[in-house]
Formats: sequence, structure tokens, C-alpha cells
Amino acid sequence: MLPAAIPRIVDAATSLFYPATCVVCSANIERSQYLCGDCRGRAPRIVPPFCAKCSEPFSGAITQTFRCANCEHRTLHFDCAVAAYRSRGLVRKVLHQFKYGKQRHLRYPIAKWLGESLHDPRLRGRHFDVIVSVPLHPTRERERGFNQAALIAELLAPFAAVPMRPVLERIRYTTTQTAYDRAKRMENLRGAFRLRKKQDVRGLHVLLIDDVLTTGSTLSECARVLRRAGAVSVHAATAARA
Ligand SMILES: [Zn+2]
Ligand SMILES: [Zn+2]
Repeated sequence: MLPAAIPRIVDAATSLFYPATCVVCSANIERSQYLCGDCRGRAPRIVPPFCAKCSEPFSGAITQTFRCANCEHRTLHFDCAVAAYRSRGLVRKVLHQFKYGKQRHLRYPIAKWLGESLHDPRLRGRHFDVIVSVPLHPTRERERGFNQAALIAELLAPFAAVPMRPVLERIRYTTTQTAYDRAKRMENLRGAFRLRKKQDVRGLHVLLIDDVLTTGSTLSECARVLRRAGAVSVHAATAARA
């Protein structure tokens, strides 16, 4: 059972170490916040209707059966992938500065966005045995200096009361995915991940964490490896969705 007030608790725990200005516009704010009210309000939320499997939003009303353009004609190995925000505008900018601008302190507002995904009905009240973050290849992690998914998962784990374990490793250094279409991404990721030595996920319910979902290919490939290793379920949560 996940506690209801995860983002607020994350605030309380980190506020001592954080300056009281908005990380985006530098406006003065309360110590318990990272973004000012204006910037918080500008973060684009994902609102229904959206795909139950991959959270891809649809424009307009959904009538009877619909097909998600992102999920159609492919197998996604996670049970579902949940995000509360779209990776657009302010959210995209903050994620980008965190990951490529190496601004580690941005993990706090990003972990808050991630925490909000746990209130989604698809995740709320669900039992998880372990939190697993999407790993980077060791070479990529050295280049960047950190694994962005692990940093935000670490903030989430204590408040979700679910242990985090480095279950997966990335064994192939893949070229950047952004230029590829879905099919190419899937192909590019084949064999990119494996279970670490001495890790065992048999019989476990896994919460898989990444910073952002683009097509879902990375999360799906991680979920496939976890499932094949015996995980009972793999639900994914990200701070934002493309
Ligand atoms: Zn602001
Ligand atoms: Zn979908």
C-alpha cells in the first residue's frame, strides 16, 4: 500500500538542503517547494482520455473502442506505464537540464512529478516488492556522472516504502534513440539489458522507474527481461511522458 502524500513527504525531507527560490524562474518561494506556483501551474498534466496501457493522451472524446497509435501492432511487456505529466514546455526543459545539463538538484522537482504518478488508479494501493530503475550503460553513466532514473527512484523508494535494488544492468552501449522510429528503437534495444548476477526477481511485483517515456521501448525491453527472469508483474512509472 503506497502512502497518499508522497510528494509532500519528499518536500519535507529535502527542504533543509534546498534554496528557497524557484528552480525555473528564481522567484522566491516557500522552503517546502522547488517550483513557484506559476511554474507548477505551467507543468502540463496528462488528463483523460489516455491509453490505459501506455498513457498516450488522445485528443477529443473516446467513443467505444479505440486503438492507441503508440501500442498498436506491438507487444509492450509492462502491465502499464504511468506518468502524470507530459514532457512538454517547462517539464521538458527541467528534464533536459537535469539529464544533459547535469543539474542534479533538479531531481527533487522531478521526483515530485514521478511521485504524483503513484496516485494514478492503475498504481494506487498496489503492492510492490521492489523498485528497479532503468540502468545506463556504465560508459554512459561515467560520461553523464549519474543515472538520472536511479537518482529519482532513490528519492521515491523510502516514501513508497518499497526497497530499491539494482536488479538490471545495461550491457550494450546503444546509440541515442531519439532519431529512431518505434520499430528501430525496439531492434536497437534487443539484448541491451540483463539481470545482474545474484539478483533474483522470481515471484516479485516490480515497479520500474525511468525519467521519461518516449515510445515505451526501453521500459518494455526492461520489463521483458524482468518477466523472463520470473517477475510476476512489472508496472512502470516515469516523471513524464513524451
Ligand atoms: Zn517559477
Ligand atoms: Zn498506448
